[in-house]
Amino acid sequence: MANQLAAKLHRGMIEYANSTNVDKPGVTNWPSSLSVRTPDGILGACARKVWYSRKGYPSSREVNPNYLFSAMMGDYIESLVVDLFQRTSAWTRLFPIAVQTPFYLEDMNLSGKIDIILENIDSGSLAGVDVKSVSAFKTSLCLPRPDISNALQCFAYLHYFSEKNIFGGHLDRWYILYVSRSETWELKSKKNTSPLMQIWDFCIEKKDDHMVISTPSGVLEYPEVSVSALHERQAEIDKACQADDPPPREYKLKYSEEEILGKYKQDKLRFKKDKTAVEKWLKAGAKEGELDLELGDFECMVCPYKDLCWNEVRLERSGTLF
Ligand code: SF4
Repeated sequence: MANQLAAKLHRGMIEYANSTNVDKPGVTNWPSSLSVRTPDGILGACARKVWYSRKGYPSSREVNPNYLFSAMMGDYIESLVVDLFQRTSAWTRLFPIAVQTPFYLEDMNLSGKIDIILENIDSGSLAGVDVKSVSAFKTSLCLPRPDISNALQCFAYLHYFSEKNIFGGHLDRWYILYVSRSETWELKSKKNTSPLMQIWDFCIEKKDDHMVISTPSGVLEYPEVSVSALHERQAEIDKACQADDPPPREYKLKYSEEEILGKYKQDKLRFKKDKTAVEKWLKAGAKEGELDLELGDFECMVCPYKDLCWNEVRLERSGTLF
């Protein structure tokens, strides 16, 4: 019986090394670059952002030790979550059977690492878990529903790992587990079904080939998010990335007053302070240029290429600046 464990470890190390070293054709896509095109616009990554990244443009985000610190906290939080599942497995009956597993999805030319695969000790069924540590601002956005990019990643993982049966059990769901890096007032007063203040989750499943998300306020159906839609969009982005010029912007850094008013009328302004600013402006006669509010798409706000895209680099094509 000697050295059985070492032999298993040896086999596991070979498999691990192989999975991190698969033959990837040139540039691979990364999970946060997933998106789909819908009749109302894009859900997920901006093609132009992917173009900047693939062409090797430097991120316009200045080197900031605070970003590094946040990223490191994210890594520790993920380890903490794994540790928590291990320590409490006798009671939760859930055990992390795989952690930080590298993957390469041929059909989407996508590579990355999956965070955790949990096994239900009693039934043997499996579930994937993607751990996301979030700032106070992102916490406020992701309390009622997950970030769509995070959900698309989990949907792609679910599709791949449920079909491949790599972990040897029935896998039909993938959780996004959010962990807030700070105790915000919003969290303390949140109307959320999670009994843990800084930890909450959403469950991603597949129904008739499309994505569904369970949230505290009910199940959200995304009929436009299917595996084929992900493939089609990926092909569109791949084609755009072959061009020398960047594709058009798919998000806005700053909305016009008219766009803000439209969002107000459709009750799409997320924060009360923004609604109040619009109401104040309307009451004062809605004069052009006097709305004291700057709003834009979250995707642009956090995009590492936003300065390149909107300010600094002006690329000329047929005399047009874009
Ligand atoms: S700044 Fe906005 S529009 Fe420009 S590449 Fe980034 S996400 Fe796309």
